[in-house]
Amino acid sequence: VVDTRFHTGAVETHCAYCALQCGMTLTVEGDHSSVEVTPRDFPTNRGGLCQKGWTAAELLQSPRRLTAPLMRDSRGEALREVSWDTALDAVADRIRAVQTTHGDDAVAVFGGGGLTNEKAYQLGKFARVALRTSNIDYNGRYCMSSAAAASNRAFGIDRGLPFPLPDLAQTGAVLLMGGNVAETMPPFMQYLNAVRDAGGSVIVADPRRTATAEQATLHLQPLPGTDLALALGLLHIAVADGHVDRDYITARTTGFDDVWRVATQWWPERAERVTGVPVAAQRATVRALAEGRAGRGAVILTARGAEQHSKGTDTVTALINLGLALGLPGRPHSGYGCITGQGNGQGGREHGQKADQLPGYRKIDDPAAREHVARVWGVDPDALPGPGRSAYELIESLGTDGGPRMLLVHGSNLVVSSPRGGRVAERLAALDLLVVCDLFLSETAALADIVLPVTQWAEEDGTMTNLEGRVIRRRAAVPPPAGVRTELEVMADLAARLGRPGGFSTDPRTVFEELRRASAGGVADYSGITWERIEAEDGVFWPCPSVDAPGQARLFTDGTFPTPDGRARFVAVDHRAAGEDIDDDHPIYLTTGRILQQYQSGAQTRHVEALRSTAAEPYLEIHPDLAAWHGLRDGDRVRIVSRRGEALAKARLTASIRSDTVFMPFHWGGEQAVNRVTNAALDPTSRMPEFKVCAVRLQRVDNQ
Ligand code: SF4
Repeated sequence: VVDTRFHTGAVETHCAYCALQCGMTLTVEGDHSSVEVTPRDFPTNRGGLCQKGWTAAELLQSPRRLTAPLMRDSRGEALREVSWDTALDAVADRIRAVQTTHGDDAVAVFGGGGLTNEKAYQLGKFARVALRTSNIDYNGRYCMSSAAAASNRAFGIDRGLPFPLPDLAQTGAVLLMGGNVAETMPPFMQYLNAVRDAGGSVIVADPRRTATAEQATLHLQPLPGTDLALALGLLHIAVADGHVDRDYITARTTGFDDVWRVATQWWPERAERVTGVPVAAQRATVRALAEGRAGRGAVILTARGAEQHSKGTDTVTALINLGLALGLPGRPHSGYGCITGQGNGQGGREHGQKADQLPGYRKIDDPAAREHVARVWGVDPDALPGPGRSAYELIESLGTDGGPRMLLVHGSNLVVSSPRGGRVAERLAALDLLVVCDLFLSETAALADIVLPVTQWAEEDGTMTNLEGRVIRRRAAVPPPAGVRTELEVMADLAARLGRPGGFSTDPRTVFEELRRASAGGVADYSGITWERIEAEDGVFWPCPSVDAPGQARLFTDGTFPTPDGRARFVAVDHRAAGEDIDDDHPIYLTTGRILQQYQSGAQTRHVEALRSTAAEPYLEIHPDLAAWHGLRDGDRVRIVSRRGEALAKARLTASIRSDTVFMPFHWGGEQAVNRVTNAALDPTSRMPEFKVCAVRLQRVDNQ
């Protein structure tokens, strides 16, 4: 019997993973027994896919898939299969009991940047209306929150790229700070390579000579944690060498003088001393951006390497300051952009999963925003909770006096993806109840008291918002295994059991219609976007306040910014040290990142044989000089020890990394989880943890 809710034949959809959301076609047999992935021509991938995309169908047929709720009655007992009614009754009973004893905020929610717009929106509403808790945040806090905070304060808006990705190929110069797109999103490389092949400049700043840096025209190799000093040095040169655009600064911005007062102290030799980037390379970078501006355009991009620091917001701000001084934002093929990482990293942060936000990218403490959203939700604005704790602060508070006693997790493997993983596991163990919705028994699900098996990717309809701010359609192509439910169903079932007000539809299109109304008038305005338009136009950009108008593909082109006075804001920031520094006990810098074959915490990609077989375990990238100092040879097992914990990996010797720095990817759990080592020092503005630099020592593990 064919289930007609699911498309068959050639189903046009998008990849299961990253924010590039490559277009792909799923060819589905009439009885849904087989699915084949082929790339399709879409503006972000133009027919390309990476290894992860090509093998994504394997996720749909994995024998390791969870197909029944799991539950244990007490810690120490094994998880056992139970019925949905038993599991949901238990969750609802515990919510009631915990909230009666400890108050509404004693139940917390942790969401994910991979959830569809509909699920992300519904989760924010579920937390505030059905649970009446302020404690909701999500793993996007670990992703691009620093870039979001910096963009908001400079431009009054946070959208990953200010133009469609193909515009990038038209520019004359790109400075990419801390991104390795050749591995994380390979189809992106065609745009950087087009710039280079047309005679333009592609400058990559990274402590490692990554596959992306390898293809650049210039590689800057700063010490981890010094990108902010580098940006200040570049601004100093831009001013000193006469490259700034004075007319632009006067007409379109405010605050330059304060920024210059800081940058004047960052003469190039000082910036070289702090960052290790030679003066000549700094000067070549600024010259390339200025020449690009004078020709086809110039773009400054950041990714997690620049953003995942306790000063990530200020680092991005310093780079935006550089872009504004050069007069880039709003010019054709020019400006500042953030390369968002998670599949719905952009949409995930717009609809209310964040502790301080309501749908439409509205501030939760803004009375007008509360009034508008409460009206859409049919509740009293005074009944809506206020701002909650940010992701890591929420985790830190679990099971403490006054902290949440119960946590519901959707779309996140936070034991692997959060910093200071040992501490995270401790806090989860202190809860009265941990509930996890997932596809597989992730490291976090394995710690849960109740696990709810939910649908994934090509098993459900919905929308995503890619790194360009383009809203796209994911289509249900394959029925989920029997026993699996959608997260919309889980939320509706729980809200009904709790007897809490507010409609919780299980139909994603109905949820999207409500999302449109809730976002209307907000910064991220989706009110003019319909599923029909997305289908007809193969994606619609936000903001889009009218069904009669096109979405706004390019921002700031009229010379104004969505700030109260229409001007972009320079914000004065200065370099400061990382959350911790090296010393005799921990004499080496560690930085972390991603590899081609794995995605985020690996909770999905480690279940795909083709990916697992080529990247089965993490490695520690180490310079041969540093390896010799430790008596390490290629392939040796090595223990990485920080002030918080330790992790194990195989040494991989390469001269492509700085000799004072080691690198380890973060896609694995258990003793291979590098986030057991990383530092939870938080950015004061974005509350982003410091994933990208900490101090470690290395120990060779013998007899392995
Ligand atoms: Fe494209 Fe990213 Fe999927 Fe690779 S993982 S195919 S780059 S969307």
